[in-house]
Amino acid sequence: MISAEQITQAFDSATRQFRQSDVYQELVAGRASPEAAREFLRNVFRTHFLSSHIVALCFASLPSKAAEMLRENLLEEMGRSDAGKPHSALLLELARGVGFDQSEIDGLIADARRRLAVFCATRVPASTLRELCLAVLLETMSFEFMLSRCSSEIAAALSKHYGFAKPALHWFALHSEVDVRHAEEGVTIIQDYLGFHQAPDGLFEQIASLTLGDNIFARHYFPAGSKHRTGTRSAPAKARRIEALTIYRLRIPFHQTFRHALHSREESDAVIVKVIDSDGGRGFGESLPRSYVTGETTESMIARIREHLAPRVFAQSFAPGWETFEYLQSVVSEWTRPEERQSSVTAWNAAFCAVELALLDWSLRADHCALADLLPPARYEVVYSGVISADAPDDAAALAKRMARIGIRQIKVKVGIIDDAARLEAVRKAVGVEVELRADANGAWSADEAIEQLQRLARFKLQSIEQPVRADDLAGMKRARQESGVAIMADESLVTLDQARLLIELGACDYFNIRLSKNGGIGASLAIARLAQEAGVKIQVGAQVGETGILSAAGRTLAAHLPALAFAEGSFGTWLLAEDVTFENVAFGLGGRAPLLQSRGLSVTVKEEVLERLATAKIDLRR
Ligand SMILES: [Mg+2]
Repeated sequence: MISAEQITQAFDSATRQFRQSDVYQELVAGRASPEAAREFLRNVFRTHFLSSHIVALCFASLPSKAAEMLRENLLEEMGRSDAGKPHSALLLELARGVGFDQSEIDGLIADARRRLAVFCATRVPASTLRELCLAVLLETMSFEFMLSRCSSEIAAALSKHYGFAKPALHWFALHSEVDVRHAEEGVTIIQDYLGFHQAPDGLFEQIASLTLGDNIFARHYFPAGSKHRTGTRSAPAKARRIEALTIYRLRIPFHQTFRHALHSREESDAVIVKVIDSDGGRGFGESLPRSYVTGETTESMIARIREHLAPRVFAQSFAPGWETFEYLQSVVSEWTRPEERQSSVTAWNAAFCAVELALLDWSLRADHCALADLLPPARYEVVYSGVISADAPDDAAALAKRMARIGIRQIKVKVGIIDDAARLEAVRKAVGVEVELRADANGAWSADEAIEQLQRLARFKLQSIEQPVRADDLAGMKRARQESGVAIMADESLVTLDQARLLIELGACDYFNIRLSKNGGIGASLAIARLAQEAGVKIQVGAQVGETGILSAAGRTLAAHLPALAFAEGSFGTWLLAEDVTFENVAFGLGGRAPLLQSRGLSVTVKEEVLERLATAKIDLRR
């Protein structure tokens, strides 16, 4: 049985971590910028404005002895007790008192609502409501505990160093007094919860470390995105060196062969990069080179990482979080540029992607945040399309039927081979008219052939045709766009930012297919996506067939972030791979739907023993 002391200790340790953090120290010592202090207040508002809704969820899961206590707490939050105003009204007073105007307050309320919606749409590691509500309860009660110990100090600093009027900071004063009692009640409520639900001790320990670890309060009050918005550069001293970099070359068998006009594959050839700092902190990245896209082969990509990228990584130190992200964005064009003009490589994008993702994963974990903190979601789920390879019509139809049965409503079919019409006919027949069909020719046609083929295929009502012509035939692509009547998506033609500019200037396409391995990772993909969004070109976030959970997770967060997203592909996970390397299952579910990811780093946990077992080659590099 978990004792009251153990619960108090868990809260105490989270509170200590917060008080000792650089961001907290800077705020209370008056070293933060005035804008950073205002952003802190905004985040207090965003965190607590809808807290009664969260307490209500806890209440729903606790119909036992402590329910009465929780009920009082809930009524107080809602302003239905003798204690007075609802907490949301007190927060409004705080916001007005510190000088936020009405439009800013409206924005904060919208943010608070959005946060709750994102929370509801995010994958949780809990498998039952009992576990989820325990996590929520621990989080709620831990805030009361922390506030009862830190509120006075924070309020004093806000008034002394940043000039906010004392009466405006009443919310803090109230929490420092009232919450001593609430904090104690919180411990009782959690004990009662554990008893009522017969939760084993291990469950409490796991959920407490998951919920309260990683500086829970700093994550809410000083999230990674805030540092970017306020331009504060806290604690540059924390910069660290990467001590080791390991490259794993994998071979993971597929459940079935995947074919298209340029290639056929039966196993994943993912390359994983692991980085480790001197404290043992680690990060994992992934990429899948495609010689017919960037010119990189598995061998050349690995050599590029070993000889060029790893030495650059070892040569400097990296500050966790936003700064590493910005640094990587600033070097991407230099680090991906081929040395010789005659090189068969367009850009070392796959090599860079694996290293960039590993460094991002490491740096975000070290900063206790997730990729989604840097790339906040623009939607509450990502819906993936099914992809059918260039199979015989009967096989394609059978697969399409299976996809339709699990509710997938968008399917891409590989074309550019003799039996295209028969395959599309079989697929259309199998799924009916409700399902949207796209096609991908992987550059198989000339412009004339494309126009002719697309007219022949018009009866299948294709929503778009991906890469109808060769990668370098942009004039042909533009002509196909003008004459075929089908929307064109650039894929193999879109490797670099310069190529993105050219495609836009020429008006050669309607869609960009952005893939992390192909386009050089998160930073480079974002740059291309921004250009596309400004030019009104719609986006597909695509994938490399055979990617593991690492690349799928990064792709998910990118897809969720981009407002101009039209389609998403990938996240096949174990629908395709015989085994995945991540603890979390990233495969999409019913309807192709997949949740937002918000846990640390790229939001997946790599099973290192599986990585070791699946690796056909492993290269260890040290600084
Ligand atoms: Mg394609």
